[in-house]
Amino acid sequence: AAAVVDTGTASAADPIYQDPSQPVAARVADLLGRMSLDEKVGQMTQAERNAVSAADLTTFRIGSLLSGGGSAPSPNNATSWANMYDGFQRAATATPLGIPLIYGVDAVHGHNNVVGATIFPHNIGLGATRDPALVQRIGRATAEEVSGTGIDWDFAPCLCVARNDRWGRTYESFGEQPEIASSMTTLITGLQGAKLSDPGSVLATAKHYIGDGGTTGGDDQGNTQISEAELRAVHLPPFREAVARGAGSVMITYSSWNGTKTHGHKYLITDVLKNELGFSGLVVSDWNAIDQIDGQPGFTATEVRTAINAGLDMIMVPAEWRSFITLLKAEVQAGRVPMSRIDDANRRILTKKFELGLFEKPLTDRAFTPSVGSAAHRQIAREAVRKSQVLLKNQNGVLPLPKTASKVFVAGKSADNIGYQSGGWTLTWQGGSGPTQPGTTVLQGIRSAVSASTTVTYNRNGTGIDGSYQAAIAVVGETPYAEGAGDRTGGMGLDSEDLATLATLRASGVPVVVVLVSGRPLDIAAQLSGWHALVAAWLPGTEGNGVADVLFGDYRPTGALPFSWMQSASQQPINAGDGKTPLFAYGFGDRFPATQNAYALIGASYYDEQRGTQVERCTDSGCGQNVGYLTPGDYVAYADVDFGATPPTSVVTRLASGSTAGGTLQYRLDSPTGPLVATVPAASTGGWQAWTSRTATASGATGVHRLYLVATGGTGGDLANVNWFQ
Ligand code: BGC
Repeated sequence: AAAVVDTGTASAADPIYQDPSQPVAARVADLLGRMSLDEKVGQMTQAERNAVSAADLTTFRIGSLLSGGGSAPSPNNATSWANMYDGFQRAATATPLGIPLIYGVDAVHGHNNVVGATIFPHNIGLGATRDPALVQRIGRATAEEVSGTGIDWDFAPCLCVARNDRWGRTYESFGEQPEIASSMTTLITGLQGAKLSDPGSVLATAKHYIGDGGTTGGDDQGNTQISEAELRAVHLPPFREAVARGAGSVMITYSSWNGTKTHGHKYLITDVLKNELGFSGLVVSDWNAIDQIDGQPGFTATEVRTAINAGLDMIMVPAEWRSFITLLKAEVQAGRVPMSRIDDANRRILTKKFELGLFEKPLTDRAFTPSVGSAAHRQIAREAVRKSQVLLKNQNGVLPLPKTASKVFVAGKSADNIGYQSGGWTLTWQGGSGPTQPGTTVLQGIRSAVSASTTVTYNRNGTGIDGSYQAAIAVVGETPYAEGAGDRTGGMGLDSEDLATLATLRASGVPVVVVLVSGRPLDIAAQLSGWHALVAAWLPGTEGNGVADVLFGDYRPTGALPFSWMQSASQQPINAGDGKTPLFAYGFGDRFPATQNAYALIGASYYDEQRGTQVERCTDSGCGQNVGYLTPGDYVAYADVDFGATPPTSVVTRLASGSTAGGTLQYRLDSPTGPLVATVPAASTGGWQAWTSRTATASGATGVHRLYLVATGGTGGDLANVNWFQ
């Protein structure tokens, strides 16, 4: 254990830790050697900003602050945030060692804490895009907006693999299968940039480790009662991927695993996450979660000791920071928490502070303040909205709607409501209603999509519809919620207002296009036959014009379901591969007719890690052999592709996640050793990675050929999922 040095007597002559030319490890070691126990305990404390004064930061050497959902300065704008941050940062650094604080927020779909910020679709919509490169750009845009308000740390992404849609956090999940969340860890790369010290980068958080989406009954903060094999197969892969991508922090889940609260689970935190996966960043608790370790109100010395000894490095206290500091210090002095553990936690925290460049630039980088809600970021959000729309039904090709219709009727409570389309975690924790954020509602998007001569009529409950319209658009669905508030114990259907609106529209005899604004699949099987078209819009955020882009054919729908869509609520939980028959299968997404549609899903297969056997699952014709662990020369999958009469024809495969440990993947015609059509480069370092869409252009081929995906070079690897499109 490092000596505890009284900082009052430390020499200030050019300390190594203040020299940016020194390696981070040397700076950390030097600083650690100068810190008192009080300072070390302070670094491990994360308080809520409303629970501390600036003077408390200086006096108690508190290392971290957060703004919980909705805790914003007044007025709530980017400049106020930056001023608030700088005030706290000045107080934190007004100490002999001048250690800067690290400030965290939940920017879970853009910088949703700030009025005027760009709100991107919630994760469920991003999962539907199956576009990790886009998600990386969203991470970057979010990081810039967060940086522009001073904040250093984002409690995102949520990598939960939600297995029961009753869970009120299902919308924070990229999808029901681990490969989607794994592939979307590109958000981390976007948030953190090439280097944390690059301007506009923030620390990312992979949360909530582990099994948050697997609780029995979909209870929030419940008990994940599954075998270790299932925990590892379903819930661990995204975290493995996040660690490989260099995620700077991991947040622990409130939930239990087989009855033991994860916050006290040394095996999961230290043995698996830190030692087995090699996670070298900092592990933070969830909000007041150590209090749940013994199930009694109020946290105790035992809970503090259990959490820290289990491997937590920083505790989100968030209000009772004084008792946390007192208890942890006493536990260390009594020898019940080893000093080596305290030093390890500090090393992890300080390393991230140095890597972020906080010692050199502790104050807000105001160059990024104007990026909050910028046109460029809204453009990325609109692209994400378009790509997240999943077309579930399109009877008689009612979509896309003609822009030149003389009149369009729009109804539904979610048609003209930015608050509803943004969902929870938007300005307030539980989200809101109405024009809470600047942006475009779906109705406004429709108005600007149609021709100048088209009259758009909106009536919330459908009053005024008559048989003279060609089609009516109904925008209906869920109202916002966050955490426990969204857990459903009863049905999962539309509310009575939506049902009445839809009944009014149907009675007119006009074809109805339903746009569903919701954080999860809903129980709509009983109504579906009465609708001509159904588009799952998820929770699109501030750029509602992205929905209109798809309705009016400016963008062909390409979204694919990230969840199996239940036939009825009683089917929950329902997930691909469990033998249940869904209303719409995982991965489903209809397309407009071929003339308007470049790519359609022609096959899919994946390796089932969970069972540890080589299996294949096909959602369509053309699936092929699936090899779990590849050795060079193995083929992974094949699809029968019609190259048509006139070359060249493009085939797109989407490779969700996997690795070839230094090798490459190739497309070959007709056999695993047939003519080479295209090559997919792998990361030079190997390791888990997500491949985005790859296009193979077969310039000479005509007619139907079997196209093989073959592993070559390297030392082998594995691949989780392949989708073929043409
Ligand atoms: C949530 C976390 C969040 C934290 C801080 C908790 O209630 O579970 O996802 O990061 O609050 O706001």
